Amino acid sequence: MALSEKLTLPLEEIKKLYENGQSTVTIARTFRVGTTTINRRLSAEGIQLRKANDPRAQEEKLRLFWSKVDKNGPIPTHYPELGPCWIWTGALARGGYGKFRNGTKTVRAHRFAYELEHGPIDRDIFGEEVHIMHLCDNPPCVRGSHLSKGMQSENIADMVVKGRSARKLIL
Ligand SMILES: [Zn+2]
Repeated sequence: MALSEKLTLPLEEIKKLYENGQSTVTIARTFRVGTTTINRRLSAEGIQLRKANDPRAQEEKLRLFWSKVDKNGPIPTHYPELGPCWIWTGALARGGYGKFRNGTKTVRAHRFAYELEHGPIDRDIFGEEVHIMHLCDNPPCVRGSHLSKGMQSENIADMVVKGRSARKLIL
């Protein structure tokens, strides 16, 4: 980025956003500059930078997450007692799963939601995080009660029960 652009960064606005709890990553994205640029400008102003696990940073992350969720989704026809799906309205990954920017990492929105509701995702004997499946069979859904951990085999069994991918399994 050119120096002239850096000089035009609205410092007062950036300071206000940061003080209101926005992360430097979010601010950097807003102004289309690197996070380091924002960090340096704030530090130069004598502002003490928050750690990533600062409660306000966490709060802001959650606010951002839920701002992208529509809680009036469809009710699963095969499992109506689950109630409506909470649909991710942000960016989608392959397979229709939501994508969420969690600090410097992009994560699956339903996995992020699962951890909010149920705690950290378990790892299997190979040290891999276990698969999180949708009881509602709706990939963009992020409602904690619609999500369940399952081994791959359980997912397949679940799909068979719902009649999905049955043909593939016969082959
Ligand atoms: Zn759902």
